[in-house]
Amino acid sequence: TRAAPQAKTVAIVGAGLVGGLAALYFAEAGWNVHVYEMRTDIRNEKFSRERSINLALSERGLSALRGARGVDLRALMELAVPMQGRMIHARDGTQVSQPYGVFGECINSVDRRMLNEVLLDAANALPNVQMYFQHELRSASLDAGQCVFFNRTTNESVTVHADLVVGADGAHSAIRRELMRPARMDYAQQYIDSVYLELTIPPAAKGSPQAIEPGSQFVLDPHHLHIWPRKTYMMIALPNPDGSFTCTVFAPSSMLDAIQTPAALFDLFERDFGDAVALIGRDRLEREFFNNPRGPLITVKCGPYHLGDKAVIIGDAAHAMVPFYGQGMNCGFEDVRVLFEHFQRHGVSATDARQLGAALAQYSAARHTDVAAMCDLALANYTEMRASVISTKYLACRWIERVLHLVAPRTIVPLYTLVSFTNVPYAECMSRGRALRKTSETILKVVSAVSVVGGLVGTAWVAKRAGVRGPMV
Ligand code: FAD
Repeated sequence: TRAAPQAKTVAIVGAGLVGGLAALYFAEAGWNVHVYEMRTDIRNEKFSRERSINLALSERGLSALRGARGVDLRALMELAVPMQGRMIHARDGTQVSQPYGVFGECINSVDRRMLNEVLLDAANALPNVQMYFQHELRSASLDAGQCVFFNRTTNESVTVHADLVVGADGAHSAIRRELMRPARMDYAQQYIDSVYLELTIPPAAKGSPQAIEPGSQFVLDPHHLHIWPRKTYMMIALPNPDGSFTCTVFAPSSMLDAIQTPAALFDLFERDFGDAVALIGRDRLEREFFNNPRGPLITVKCGPYHLGDKAVIIGDAAHAMVPFYGQGMNCGFEDVRVLFEHFQRHGVSATDARQLGAALAQYSAARHTDVAAMCDLALANYTEMRASVISTKYLACRWIERVLHLVAPRTIVPLYTLVSFTNVPYAECMSRGRALRKTSETILKVVSAVSVVGGLVGTAWVAKRAGVRGPMV
């Protein structure tokens, strides 16, 4: 791709996952692309300073990646580990599988850094892309398309102008801050009480009996997302291609803060995550628990996302969400795909941006409803993962929904399937998923009532045959 001489210029702020994909989409559409990132180039770093080492990539993310010609998705997926369901770990170490779909659908565990590097490499390979690392956005006059960066290498201020500014600068976005007043943005943020902390289950040595099967280095089934649900907190683990698992503990910060000594740590972990302690190893657990950072979990809802035909925010900058549905990145990737659908609908191209304002306005209005629904679903899924997955009522409803889905795969689709394995807009997923849950709860009530009545009739019949008289207690 080469930008036409009269091609428009876009300044993308943030070279994270969503900024990386946006750079590719704009570049492949022929725009002049300038990417500004406050940190150093992740591709030159020895150690990743990123949070969440791996993440779940599902259909929405995959669909958006398919739209970027520069991404070799087949090669990428060779480095992903497919997960076909949840594996629930009880306190006594018993494991029970709960498949995600009825047709073997999988979500994919991918390395965050690898994915970010793939996107940056693909964008960087195009002649119309320039990347500026160590450039931190300090201020902007977005209605004039102007951004001021602080160059951390030279300690100088750099002012740039662009036809369009795209804020992909994460949950604490500086572009969003600059957009708030001129765009008359509504804004709400919410920290939840829980924080997260990552731990590692290392791979088994080659040939070790600890591995789940000969030739493998995995010590747990790699094709599941493992969950240790403990009602008010939980631990999860996602597989990595090297045979290790990244565990994430989600718990109230006060609970983690109260653990001050190795003895207190082992008391809790041996009781609640005993099988995992054996796999992590006590030394590693102690080292990682007391040294690894604890991350906050935030929801950000705001709108509109744009300012005229000058600026737009995407990804976490527009909608940070708690990670319990594994949708934050997927939703951010979908932002990029949907944004370009609006461009196409309005005839916006690198050389004709007359309808850009209309395209951004429509994108902003339509996307907000969907993204707000997803933020709510993500919050609700925390309860599902840490508590509901072991409740009999939940399991019964889920079973009913799966049977109904098998009978009518197109019309009756469970919420998780809609969110993770389709591109159905999130707000529609929410309403369809909730309607189905009501139906399954009603069916469950009827079945329970019928079985109670059946039980009473049966007991009375047996009692009569046995010659029992009078009321039975
Ligand atoms: P970010 O990844 O935050 O990138 C923003 C970039 O902007 C960064 O590189 C930053 O350095 C740069 N930047 C910030 N400020 C400035 C500035 N002033 N000037 C210049 N550059 C700036 N999502 C999923 O889809 N699946 C999962 O399984 C999943 N698991 C998760 C687990 C955890 C524990 C967490 C915390 C999140 C998880 N997510 C998951 C969410 C996912 O990480 C985010 O949604 C995703 O990283 C958002 O990408 P982004 O590019 O919008 O923002």
